[in-house]
Amino acid sequence: MTDTTAPVLGEATIQELREGVRGEVLGRQDPGYAEACRVWNGAHDGRRPALVVRCAGAADVIAAIGFARGNDLPMAVRGGGHSVAGFSTCDDGVVIDLSPMRGVRVDPAARIAYVGPGAVWGDVDHETQAHGLATTGGLISTTGVAGFTLGGGIGWLMRRHGLACDNLRAADVVTADGTLVRADETQNTDLLWGLRGGGGNFGVVTQFELALHPVGPIVYAGPVFYPADVAGDLLRLFREWAPGAPDDFTALVNLTTAPPLPVIPEAWHGKKVAALIAASAGSPDAGAPQFAAFRDLAEPIADLLGPMPYTVIQSLIDPLWPKGIQAYFKGTNLSRLDDALIDTLTDRHQDAPGPQCEIHVHQMGGAVGRVGRDETAFVERSMPYVLNAVTGWQDSAAGQSHRDWARNVVAGASDQSTGLAYSNFLGDPGAGRASYDAETYDRLAALKDRYDPTNLFRLNQNVVPAGSPG
Ligand SMILES: Cc1cc2nc3c(=O)[nH]c(=O)nc-3n(C[C@H](O)[C@H](O)[C@H](O)COP(=O)(O)OP(=O)(O)OC[C@H]3O[C@@H](n4cnc5c(N)ncnc54)[C@H](O)[C@@H]3O)c2cc1C
Repeated sequence: MTDTTAPVLGEATIQELREGVRGEVLGRQDPGYAEACRVWNGAHDGRRPALVVRCAGAADVIAAIGFARGNDLPMAVRGGGHSVAGFSTCDDGVVIDLSPMRGVRVDPAARIAYVGPGAVWGDVDHETQAHGLATTGGLISTTGVAGFTLGGGIGWLMRRHGLACDNLRAADVVTADGTLVRADETQNTDLLWGLRGGGGNFGVVTQFELALHPVGPIVYAGPVFYPADVAGDLLRLFREWAPGAPDDFTALVNLTTAPPLPVIPEAWHGKKVAALIAASAGSPDAGAPQFAAFRDLAEPIADLLGPMPYTVIQSLIDPLWPKGIQAYFKGTNLSRLDDALIDTLTDRHQDAPGPQCEIHVHQMGGAVGRVGRDETAFVERSMPYVLNAVTGWQDSAAGQSHRDWARNVVAGASDQSTGLAYSNFLGDPGAGRASYDAETYDRLAALKDRYDPTNLFRLNQNVVPAGSPG
């Protein structure tokens, strides 16, 4: 058994790195090390990196990459730390922790946000909403901009304004050889293509430039909760409504368990429920007519869908997913949502092993579907729905049953899967190959050859360099 308390590096070697950075270098003996090791997903909290480098700027990133490369150590890159598969920590290696680099600067006239790689969506929404602007961000405000955007980025504004990666105009990237390069529409355009859906395979992004759009401050948004016995009817109505819905609207159906929140009548707490959750990127006045049929479907348990601040819908469910919860997701893209699948999903809903087992059916299309297959590494654009089985649990003993359930939900959709999946919804390391068709994967592998030929950046949904034997 490895001695997990033993330093894997000499103090003199570590001291050299400490002197070479503006930020902090935390080794196993340092106060603050345990806290610096923590990631959002408690299922991966047991890892013991040799060092956590809390970077203050791009120069620290260059130093940390050089240190990991020079000492032949594994390297994990951490933006918001929300990786479901546990990629933002490691054993016995170097964690490049970007969380101190959380700055967001907005140019309201140009409608661009310059975002640090440690920023979370709450940071971006706070700064951009001060100008009535926003860009597609996550459903939880504590999710990091970095991993979210590099993987794709599904959020409430996507059918009007595209995925987060479609709004990535430019990025500063430190590549495997320690060079800082800029990728935009005029230089390193191949790299920009790869950053839009190819994950953290090509380097460490030290600044994101994101396109902004007028949104809010009040939008029409929120959930409507129904008893679980109308889950099938809700999914059928959703299937009827989704293809004709204006691009301003993005919705999902969530088969879940009622959380113990004051907005839900107490008698329903802990009972299985089905929810429609929606948001509009446009005028709040256009909201109510869109959802009239949903309101006629059945008497809701709670109807919170209405005008609300954009920043409220962006953080509404944060308390249900706190740092330290253990989590596993598994998803697939759906070519259709037929009755057989609806029956399977409603059955799986009833089998869920815990209260935080959720089946999400995301409505896609709109601006997401209008981007050409070869324009970004987020290749699949035509799927009408994305299925995501989301699980969270507190007691480690519950992990296996939750993972098994999520896998079973997705296995039940195999007939209606397109065969591809969104990499950020894949909780198993090594599963990311399923996000790309062969042509896109080959193009990514060639890009990897150019920017990271030795696969230094491999703690991610990894693309193996084309020149590598492995
Ligand atoms: C509670 C929760 C809610 C979520 N909701 C959504 C949602 O609404 N929509 C959606 O699309 N996804 C969602 N996700 C999935 C989310 O997009 C991914 O987990 C994403 O990777 C998180 O990004 P991060 O920066 O927080 O993660 P991290 O764990 O920090 O990083 C994830 C990956 O990105 C790499 N990376 C991080 N920073 C950089 C960087 N600066 N340069 C290069 N590579 C980097 C890491 O190495 C790692 O491989 C959710 C996840 C959770 C846990």
